[in-house]
Amino acid sequence: MTVSLSLGPAGSGKTQRTLARILEVRRDSPLSPIWVIAPGRLAVAAYRQRLGRAGGALGARVGTFGDLFQEILGRARSFSPVAPGPVQRLILRQAIQAVAAAGELPHYMPLVPRPGFLEAMAEAIAELDQAGVPPETLGKGPGRSKAKLDELAKIHAAYRARLERSGWVDSESLNARACAALDAAPHLLSDVALIVVDGFDSFEGDQLRALVSLAGAVPELRLTLPGTEGMQRRAHRRFARSLNRLLEAGLQFQLDVSSAGPRQEKTLVALERRLFESGADPLPASSRLALIEARSPIEEAREALRWLKARIRRDQLSTGDCALVTPDPARYRPLLRRAAAEFGVPLRFTHGDPLTSAPGVVALLDLLALPLLDWPQRLTLDAVHSPYFDLGRFGLMTTDRHLLEAASRFGQVVGGLETWRDALGRLARADAPTGGPEEAIDMPGEGTPRGAEADRLERGLSQLAARLRPPDAQTPGGWVSWLEDLIDDLGFTAHQTTAGDKAALARLRASLRALVLGDELAQPEALGYSEFVRQLTGLLEAAEFEEESDWDRPPVTVLRLLEARGVRYQAVAVLGLSEGLLPQVEREDPFLPDEVRNDLGLEPRLGREQAGLFYQAVTRADGWLLLTRPYLADDGEAWLASPFWEAVAQLSPDSVRRISTESPRPLADAASVQEVLFWGVRRGGLPEHYLASLGERWAQLQHARDVLAARSQPEAAGPYEGDLSSESDEFAALYGPEHVWSPSRLEAYGACPHQFLVAVALGLEPHEPPELGFDAAQLGSMLHAILERAYAEADDPADLDSVKRSLSQAAEDVFRDAPQRYGFRPTPLWGVERQDLEAMLEATVEALAEISPGWTPAGLEAAFGLGGAPPLKLETGLGTVRVRGFIDRVDRNQAGELRIIDYKTGSSHLAASDLLDGRRLQLPLYALGAAQALEMGDPTEGFYWKIRQAQPGSLKLSSFEAELDGDSLSGPPAAYAVAQAHVERILSGARQGDFPPIPPRGGCPGYCPAAAWCWRYTPSSWGG
Ligand code: SF4
Repeated sequence: MTVSLSLGPAGSGKTQRTLARILEVRRDSPLSPIWVIAPGRLAVAAYRQRLGRAGGALGARVGTFGDLFQEILGRARSFSPVAPGPVQRLILRQAIQAVAAAGELPHYMPLVPRPGFLEAMAEAIAELDQAGVPPETLGKGPGRSKAKLDELAKIHAAYRARLERSGWVDSESLNARACAALDAAPHLLSDVALIVVDGFDSFEGDQLRALVSLAGAVPELRLTLPGTEGMQRRAHRRFARSLNRLLEAGLQFQLDVSSAGPRQEKTLVALERRLFESGADPLPASSRLALIEARSPIEEAREALRWLKARIRRDQLSTGDCALVTPDPARYRPLLRRAAAEFGVPLRFTHGDPLTSAPGVVALLDLLALPLLDWPQRLTLDAVHSPYFDLGRFGLMTTDRHLLEAASRFGQVVGGLETWRDALGRLARADAPTGGPEEAIDMPGEGTPRGAEADRLERGLSQLAARLRPPDAQTPGGWVSWLEDLIDDLGFTAHQTTAGDKAALARLRASLRALVLGDELAQPEALGYSEFVRQLTGLLEAAEFEEESDWDRPPVTVLRLLEARGVRYQAVAVLGLSEGLLPQVEREDPFLPDEVRNDLGLEPRLGREQAGLFYQAVTRADGWLLLTRPYLADDGEAWLASPFWEAVAQLSPDSVRRISTESPRPLADAASVQEVLFWGVRRGGLPEHYLASLGERWAQLQHARDVLAARSQPEAAGPYEGDLSSESDEFAALYGPEHVWSPSRLEAYGACPHQFLVAVALGLEPHEPPELGFDAAQLGSMLHAILERAYAEADDPADLDSVKRSLSQAAEDVFRDAPQRYGFRPTPLWGVERQDLEAMLEATVEALAEISPGWTPAGLEAAFGLGGAPPLKLETGLGTVRVRGFIDRVDRNQAGELRIIDYKTGSSHLAASDLLDGRRLQLPLYALGAAQALEMGDPTEGFYWKIRQAQPGSLKLSSFEAELDGDSLSGPPAAYAVAQAHVERILSGARQGDFPPIPPRGGCPGYCPAAAWCWRYTPSSWGG
């Protein structure tokens, strides 16, 4: 029995020599089987290819250790089915629940319901089994962690016992059985002439055991390992550790140190030799090695793919000869996928997507959550709108989402099936003859369903809810049957149309089958609906799906760092060489800390030799190598380079290039049409030969650039900045002499002309999702109504006690009907809120009384220009302007003077400067309305009254001062003159179609409908 170990640096021909040996053995013993073991499916495929090219594929099997173990068990006639992953998780979950129910998990009990606990236990148990650590040994762990290890040991033992009883095995027990079978009957592999173990840089516990068994069972065992004889180099420390483990396992071998010529390009050979060597000479400049710093991982992914595309186009490489290595697949996967789609580069990831990221699966889980969460507004709308369901049998269509959304806004439906039904029921009655005041509702706005349409939606939602109503507790198998019927009823399967959808559906069905198998494995327990959904979600979270590639050429492979073994490519890009990404930040395992790991002979989590992994990754390239890193973190701070990056950059400083997205780039480097266009805009033009095919798109971009340039100017001006003077005739007609203005519309223009265009001229309003409780506008309406009634119904409105007495009744009356009248859903705190608001109103009338000796209310909610009352007619340089309004309160004193009060629930922007700026015009216009339209007399005073603060705003008509046309004015006439000048300016701008976006001083109001998209939006605390 010969055991040999080929040692040599990466790319030094170790694999080549195993191939030569296979051919020799094949010549001498043509009928004897040969086995090749490689570290993973990718490495298996790569070896198979090389073997085929060398002409030795016949009679040689290439597989993983798992494949060989299956072969051994097959020969030993020890057949045990390997439980699929979901079944293993199910058995483990049952084991955890059984141990927890027995009260044996005092430490871990709080973690048991957490989704990550099951996965953490699965990983820990797999690692223990691979290292051959039985539960009994674990329970005797070191003192510090004894109690927790004891609990882990109990879970481990319960899992093993349940798996045993089920008749299934997992891959770890399969490995152990195969080793035991081979030890008991070494002749099982007596016909095998040679076993080659190639591409590994480390060996797990059961792999080491298997190697020892194989050494005694086959005539020749040939291993390869990267490194050199002394294993002195830092780059080889990881392999030195593996070599020691082979020796400690008792394996004795002949050493075969590689001497074949390296297969890589000479710069890459030099890099391999000098990597991590102190005092090494710099590398000669070469286009074969590149280091690119990009601003962010997004740009890094684009640069890596651009570089690979250049290798494919310029250096004639096949896509299959290229690979990307990422240290953080979750981060880079979506970025690479997006860039690859744009660049037209086919990609194949060696790892699947989480099943719970598949849109169809997300839609299904959200649908199942509806009864649990009682039909929240957003999830309900999403379910109705989902392209994955056909709700036609319930009378619902995907377009009903908009109707239901409008209904939810009308009825303030935050959630709750009964609330939905109530809102739709009220809308269904909206067209019917009204029965009385209890039927009174706010009239629904445009686009809101009513009558028969609302009735249809109400019935549809009720039927869907009835179909989704979960039955009583059942076994998992029972729930799966229920779910599969539901899936059929919803047409879910037929609506999985894309390759990704179909792959996810297949994986979903496999997971459901695992749940059914669970019933057969153990005494099935009846689960409630929420527990079933929780178990299903946990199962799906642990599952991955892989979309079938439909590319017509071999894709570029995207590898995880650990997979960069046993494979070689012409061009390799290694991403993520910034601090924290590669090397990864090492953290102690909370379940198996390093102290325990050392004790049990497990791989430590701290002090891992990541330099060895990096060495493996960079030495996968035979012809071209690219390293990339992001240089700015998400928060805009500099992102330090990884020490691995520094090690290569020091060897080849001329290869480092920092890409600045702002700098112009040669068009020849563009990897997509979008980039050609984008870079062309940056450069200010495109050569003629590009324009021939891209003319139309180029013209659109030119236009977009002009718009952006205009909007980047400090002053807003021109057609892209609200200049609609081309439509001035229409605006002049719209806002002509007969138009009756409200102060708030004038103020909208005064604050920002563009806000006026959007909110008033176009009538757009933001659609806020419904929320429980009242909003600021509804609060303002309630408080105004109560104050108005309190003074109107008081026996003596000038007497505080009398007002307070009627205030109480007014508050009671207004609050009672407020939810229906003002259209909000009270929160559970509504009763407390009412008391607080009433107390606040009491304080406000007291404070108002204090500053009102001698003043008596003479008008409440006094209207002008409304309800038959004449409007205020302001004479301006542009003619007469008509204004309407409701004056909250007009007081009169014994001298016959008037005082104007306007209640405000908000407290900001009530100063004299706001009138001077033109965004608060109400007070002087109301004063003029009282004097001229209502002919009540001349106001000598006026202020805004801050209801919540129980005090006046700082703008007072009596003390207002202004400079106009060189004249110093004061008191009400000054305020009138300023307001009049603003009205003239506003009228002129509105009639000419001049609506530039000019953020008000202090920032834009949150209620501006344009705030969601306006390019000049400036945040502020501007309130009502
Ligand atoms: S967001 Fe600001 S600048 Fe833009 S329209 Fe509204 S108020 Fe004007």
